Amino acid sequence: MRKLTERKLLLATHNRGKLEEIRAMMAPHGIEVVSAGELGLPEPAETENSFIGNARIKALAAMQATGLLVLADDSGITVDGLDGAPGVYTADWAETPNGRDFMQAMTRTWRELDERGVPEPRTAQFRATLILLWPDGHEEIFEGVAPGHLVWPPRGEQGHGYDPIFVPEGHDVTYAEMPAEQKNAISHRARAFRQLEAFLA
Ligand code: IMP
Repeated sequence: MRKLTERKLLLATHNRGKLEEIRAMMAPHGIEVVSAGELGLPEPAETENSFIGNARIKALAAMQATGLLVLADDSGITVDGLDGAPGVYTADWAETPNGRDFMQAMTRTWRELDERGVPEPRTAQFRATLILLWPDGHEEIFEGVAPGHLVWPPRGEQGHGYDPIFVPEGHDVTYAEMPAEQKNAISHRARAFRQLEAFLA
């Protein structure tokens, strides 16, 4: 496995929250983090059908534009009773002419499970993939999976996206019913980040 010697990292995101999170993680390692959003880079279309594929598209576009070491991520939820859907289309299921509506996405998910007659517990996994891409094309991949099951109706006010219908394994509350610190300690993203931290150490 390659060691990280670079002192500067480009995060391939336009999301301010993700930038702050990664910046805080990299600071103790003496690595400066800039983001694609800060540099005004365009956001490439995510046209692959896997999380790794889409993370790689974002990483490659950012690396080719800057020549820097890049970190990119992609995430979503896979529902077993829907053969892994919405998967890479997790955010797309929320799209409306007036912006994203995750109530619509959650309703569609539960309705399609009903239409297929999928028995409970309706198991699902939140997944986060991180890719570190060097200018010479070398890459390291880190994946975090949070297994759990879906519930209806949605419960809880915290979090975002599909959080109100996802109960992580070993818990009886949804991601949206947990304080942010608790979710952030056990989430799919946390699991992927812990692997990245182990790599940095
Ligand atoms: P992206 O990785 O930023 O492309 O996000 C993909 C989509 O996955 C988001 O828009 C959310 O709908 C969903 N998602 C990813 N992580 C979470 C989470 O922790 N809770 C709820 N939804 C999530």
